[in-house]
Amino acid sequence: MAKQFKPETLCVQAGWTPSKGEPRVLPIYQSTTFKYDTSEQMARLFDLEDSGYFYTRLQNPTNDAVAAKIAALEGGVAAMLTSSGQAANFYAIFNICQAGDHFVSSSAIYGGTFNLFSVTMKKLGIDVTFISPEASEEEIAAAFKPNTKALFGETVSNPSLEVLDIEKFARVAHAHGVPLIVDNTFPTPINCRPFEWGADIVIHSTTKYMDGHATSVGGAIVDSGNFNWDAHADKFPGLCTPDESYHGLTYTKAFGKLAFITKATAQLMRDLGSIQSPQNAFLLNLGLETLHLRMPRHCENALKVAQYLEQNEHVAWVNYCSLPGNKFYELAKKYMPNGSCGVISFGLKGGREDSIKFMDNLKLAAIVTHVADARTCVLHPASHTHRQLSDEQLIEAGVRPDLIRLSVGIENADDIIADIEQALNA
Ligand SMILES: *Cc1c(COP(=O)(O)O)cnc(C)c1O
Repeated sequence: MAKQFKPETLCVQAGWTPSKGEPRVLPIYQSTTFKYDTSEQMARLFDLEDSGYFYTRLQNPTNDAVAAKIAALEGGVAAMLTSSGQAANFYAIFNICQAGDHFVSSSAIYGGTFNLFSVTMKKLGIDVTFISPEASEEEIAAAFKPNTKALFGETVSNPSLEVLDIEKFARVAHAHGVPLIVDNTFPTPINCRPFEWGADIVIHSTTKYMDGHATSVGGAIVDSGNFNWDAHADKFPGLCTPDESYHGLTYTKAFGKLAFITKATAQLMRDLGSIQSPQNAFLLNLGLETLHLRMPRHCENALKVAQYLEQNEHVAWVNYCSLPGNKFYELAKKYMPNGSCGVISFGLKGGREDSIKFMDNLKLAAIVTHVADARTCVLHPASHTHRQLSDEQLIEAGVRPDLIRLSVGIENADDIIADIEQALNA
């Protein structure tokens, strides 16, 4: 389906293809378990010799249909759902890194991911080096070590809205024989498909625009199938040498282009168990059906709001990568010609304190720890999501202490602007 249809059609139709007499709408397989006729049939599943469902912690038909839709939208060969975006990022790294390994990451990333990489992964013995997304190829290359296993970045960083030069990052990753992993949460595959620019693995927090209605926390990992693990077998023994926990099976030999996702499912999901509930996958699928209608409206509204803020006397600065004059405008135009996302950030002339007062005066836009859903909302990262970071770490993550993150929804833009105006004047 991926090859023959355009994204709009894939949003609506990909993943679930019922045959005669089956439900037209993707059913929720609300079952932990699946039935077999003989012991031998079940044994073959455990040996990964047959594919089939046996326990929802590993795979579930509802989840698989939704994962297949996301894979089709990104142009990948396989995908898996996880219980959250955090789990997706953790699995993507942990699938190829173990204690003693190292990876390189853009510093302009989501606060939760920054913490995962710099604190929790370190406790597991996996080391990270952060580099600026604006670093030159030489500077990025300088961060690589003999034990470096991956390069990571966000297409559009949350909340600093810096645009990743995917081609540049892919060149450096591939020159060092490692994959480029890109968190594509903000643009979604409607606005950017990182595989077309050389990324190898794509991650999503499906909690955001994909679900789109703020109902379900979830994540996804998509594999392009393009990275040749066997060409760098010494770096990726987990994929290229026998897995003793699976009877000596070698993932690349047994599954070819599906090796990465199969290992993440058969090994990490089996052992760590961050499965998305089928109920949440069903809701995610409903969100995906209208993703192609919502994203353009988010972008259109965000641009109008950014242009309004830019000329307002109370506003010190506005950051929106799709706003002409923005530092990342040219990169945004290259990678996301139809618009980037609905999230913008800005600061007020009165600084940190005025930012907090302004937020308290908003009526239509709610203060919530969320971003990228249908309803306009605001957050002050320095007091909320990024609270655990020091001022230096805030700056390193591209988050100014006065930064207000505004997630522009799909309401009428005039109403959103009127709400901002009354709060600025209050
Ligand atoms: C929210 C977010 C995450 C974490 O996702 P959860 O679903 O909240 O676990 C990761 N990356 C980005 C870019 C995000 O915006």
